[in-house]
Amino acid sequence: CGIVGYVGPQSALDVVTAGLKRLEYRGYDSAGVAVQADGGLATAKRAGKLVNLEKELGERPLPAGTTAIGHTRWATHGGPTDANAHPHVDNAGRVAVVHNGIIENFAALREELTGRGHELASETDTEVVAHLLAEEYSACADLAEAMRLVCRRLEGAFTLVAVHADEPDVVVGSRRNSPLVVGVGEGESFLASDVAAFIAHTREAIELGQDQVVELRRDAVTVTDFDGAPADVREYHVDWDA
Ligand code: GLU
Repeated sequence: CGIVGYVGPQSALDVVTAGLKRLEYRGYDSAGVAVQADGGLATAKRAGKLVNLEKELGERPLPAGTTAIGHTRWATHGGPTDANAHPHVDNAGRVAVVHNGIIENFAALREELTGRGHELASETDTEVVAHLLAEEYSACADLAEAMRLVCRRLEGAFTLVAVHADEPDVVVGSRRNSPLVVGVGEGESFLASDVAAFIAHTREAIELGQDQVVELRRDAVTVTDFDGAPADVREYHVDWDA
């Protein structure tokens, strides 16, 4: 339902949880975050309102990091439980992904992954994406390329945002039939399902086009189509108050 990603000098968890709060008005049933830290990923997720996640983060703080993603979920596949909350991770815990929308062909992908030995931990349509990204990444070692390869196999509507433990200070996103906006800051970059999540930090935005993938770094935003061809981006100024 709500998605936020951040890479930059600030405490990424603070930026992401504040961004999720700005998206609360849209309604949701669970929330979660993943942060890159100490060469790995740390994740926290809870059914219920953001206060439940904040309580969890208070009791079991995640390590500090400068790259993170977050999600508020409106369940479509699998009930609103802690296990079904996003982010979802692969079996090695090296890649984390959040998703808005519905992956229509998830059942076939799930079966395929199970056949290759993956163990799925949730009932969501989303989790297959984490496992597929991990497989593609192990072959190409490039998260944006892994995302392009996975998106070409997905049917349905999706905004996806992912981080990989082996790609520090990189957040990758993609979209089809579901919105995703980049916020361009000074030495920091944002991704969100809605500009409201980041206009406290920057008002320079780029709307991702249909079937595009974005690789976000502190000082660079690279957009391609699902085949890897560079895409034209048009930066615009958000001049309304959220
Ligand atoms: N289909 C996904 C799920 O049920 C994402 C739902 C959403 O858009 O929040 O977990």
